Amino acid sequence: MAGQTIGFIGLGRMGGPMAGRLLDAGHTLHLYDTSKKALEPLLARGVTSHSSPAGVAAVAPLVLLSLPTPDIVQAVALGEQGLAQGKVVKTVIDLSTTGPRVAAIVAAGLAEKKIGWVDAPVSGGVPGARAGTLSVMVSCPKATYTAVEPILKTFGKLFFCGEKPGLGQSAKLANNLLGAAAIAVSAEAMAMAVKAGLDAQVMLDIINVSSGRNSATLDKFPKSILTGKFDWGFSTGLSYKDVRLCVDEAEALGVPMVIGAAVRQILAITHAKYGPDSDFTEMARLVEEWAGVEIRSKG
Ligand code: NAD
Repeated sequence: MAGQTIGFIGLGRMGGPMAGRLLDAGHTLHLYDTSKKALEPLLARGVTSHSSPAGVAAVAPLVLLSLPTPDIVQAVALGEQGLAQGKVVKTVIDLSTTGPRVAAIVAAGLAEKKIGWVDAPVSGGVPGARAGTLSVMVSCPKATYTAVEPILKTFGKLFFCGEKPGLGQSAKLANNLLGAAAIAVSAEAMAMAVKAGLDAQVMLDIINVSSGRNSATLDKFPKSILTGKFDWGFSTGLSYKDVRLCVDEAEALGVPMVIGAAVRQILAITHAKYGPDSDFTEMARLVEEWAGVEIRSKG
């Protein structure tokens, strides 16, 4: 599989390190990003940059996307200077979290041009993107899966979710709701314990060997909340987008989401108060303010 010509669009916090791994594996990359700053570290490694998605699709048979929102994915794929205008592209893989609806729309739009669509959202954050330890939730026709498997394995462990466009996205939304909910509810529990007089580190140590442990108490609290850094590396804007997509999807399917709706509101307030670029661990800062206590260790 070494030596393929691959397009990559969206070289941000996730796309940048993933593109770096493809370069490490010996592939030739053609890039597009609206931000020059995002491209800089990769340009230093001898890649080619283009002025539009269509430019990338005119030279690369396989194009990968790591973009922020459903609207942007749709515009990059089907817009005026979009991938569908390119004559060389045969397969597009979306690594972004953009929900099952846009996956279905874009898959149908690209199919008209005989371009295949793979949704392959990822989980594991920026450290996972750097190390190649992401979980990758893939949906596409089985034959396409077999063809793209070696490339996607560069990023981590693959899970085949089915052939229907958007199934990988549904898996990702379900996971990300849980990731966000874990921060919100753990912040409430920790604030209560600290205000009652427990040391935050002692409380965390108890939870992490007891039935309350979760991804927030195991990772986010020790690294980004007890330290007061709020620097996990995933923005409130993106987390709010994921949970919104998840709750909307649940509603469309007739699945009640009472807790999900509460998490959505906590994110809406965090977003309004600290801005879209704040870290999603700042959900805990919000709870701290409301509770009048800081979740820090005295030790
Ligand atoms: P990011 O904002 O750091 O990167 C997005 C990149 O897309 C930026 O470089 C931006 O300039 C570029 N971009 C925006 N509009 C564009 C356009 N029209 N054309 C070309 N490029 C454009 O975001 P990220 O954190 O890297 O996340 C990317 C995707 O991966 C999102 O869908 C996110 O939900 C998902 N994700 C992120 C994480 C994480 O921990 N950061 C983890 C898993 C999944």
